[in-house]
This record gives sequence, structure tokens and C-alpha cells, in this order.
Amino acid sequence: MRRMLSVEEAGEGILHAARRMYERRYVAANDGNLSVRISDDRLVVTPTGMSKGFMSRSDLVVTDMKGERVSGKRKPTSEIMMHIRAYELRDDIGSVVHAHPPYATAFAVAGIPLVECVLPEVIVSLGSIPLADYGTPSTEEVPRSIESVVTRSDALLLRNHGVMTVGNCVLDAYHKLETVEHFAEITFIARHLGSVSSLAHDDVRKLVEVRAAAGGGSVYPGCEESGICGVPQGADQTELVKIIVEEVVKILREGGNALD
Ligand SMILES: [Zn+2]
Repeated sequence: MRRMLSVEEAGEGILHAARRMYERRYVAANDGNLSVRISDDRLVVTPTGMSKGFMSRSDLVVTDMKGERVSGKRKPTSEIMMHIRAYELRDDIGSVVHAHPPYATAFAVAGIPLVECVLPEVIVSLGSIPLADYGTPSTEEVPRSIESVVTRSDALLLRNHGVMTVGNCVLDAYHKLETVEHFAEITFIARHLGSVSSLAHDDVRKLVEVRAAAGGGSVYPGCEESGICGVPQGADQTELVKIIVEEVVKILREGGNALD
């Protein structure tokens, strides 16, 4: 269940994540945009034409779910309709983040989705990272291009453009952006070393079960598209898988991080 936030709470979260995004060079100039859903019909969003590293609370804009400004002095981001489409299709999310981090964007430019099952923490936190078709920025083509992918993944590459992630809150969505970029950088290096070895089918299955048991199973997390494992969600657990999954979930529930 999404927690409803005040404009102030949402704004603080956006400014914090936006600064980190800028400091990590995930955006250049005025690129990127962030939003938080604060109620059924209200979003707090970043303005168009401003660096994400130098915004203050008064620069943020409140809109309705049609993208019309309700309060704030600036114009909302030109990609507002991409954010709105994600919220329309995913009632479970509270934030959308978009940036152009170099490694992940390079994969988006090369037309290579990040769907190989190679890193446990990526499978558990994100699942696969598919590639959405290209859409001309700030046109209806962009929201249309994400429709078929945002329904099954919390992170996507936007072809010839960048990355979009969704989460319960803005920090959750931002952390997914960091994970995508880190994963893209590691994949890039591994490819240059000569090989990317995928996890075995059974090992992927354990991670998929951990993800589902930890409550992250709203979308299909496997690397179906690569044809490497094709693990169906909710597959029958063998005794061994069950024991391992229970162990990891126990660590997670006790506030630990089994994969840090
Ligand atoms: Zn962009």
C-alpha cells in the first residue's frame, strides 16, 4: 500500500535524490526528472529547464494526473506524461525517476537490454532491465513506448535516451537507478574482459523466490528475454530451495541485507 506524503515530505525526498543524481553524473545540464505521487490525483515533480543539482523546494511543481500545474511557479518537466503513464499502469508505485547515466545509456544507445542473470543483488532488487522502444522526447511517443515494459519491470532502458526506474518512494526509485548504472558498468567491463557468465538456472530460481518472498514480486523478475533461464515466478520449490530462501528472507526481515 502506498503511503500518502505531504508536499514537503515529497519535496525533501526529490531534492535529496536529485542532488545525488547530479553528483554521480547521471545527468548533464538540465537533464533528468523525478516525481513523487502524494495522493490519487497529485504529483510533486521537478521543473523543466533546471539542473537537478541546484534546485530548491520552491522550484518543485505540484500537478494533477493530467499533468496540469496545481501549484508552483515553474513549468513541470517536459516528460511529465511518461511519469503519469507509469503511475496509471502501476498502482503500487510512489515515485518515478529518469536520468541519463553514461554506462546504462550506452547500452540503451547500443540497443542491448540488461537482461542476463549474472548478479544476485540485481535479480533480487530489480529483475531484468528491458529496453523500451525509442520515442521522441517530450512527445506522446515516450509514454507509449514504456507501456509494455513498465508493467513487468521496475527499471528500464529507454532506447537512444536513458533510464527510467520506479519505486515505493523516491529513494527506492533512485537506488534502483544506481543499481542499473552499476550493473551496466560491470557488464561493460566483463564484456571487455571477454566473457559474461550467467548464473545457473537453479541459482536464479532461488533468487527469484527470495525476491517474491521479500515482497518484491509484483513483476516478472527473470531474464526471460535472454532465454538463459526463463524461470517462472512462483515455481514449485524443492525442499533445498525452500530452506535457502527461508534463511535469506529471515535475514532480510530482521533488518539485515543478505546481499550487501
Ligand atoms: Zn531524458
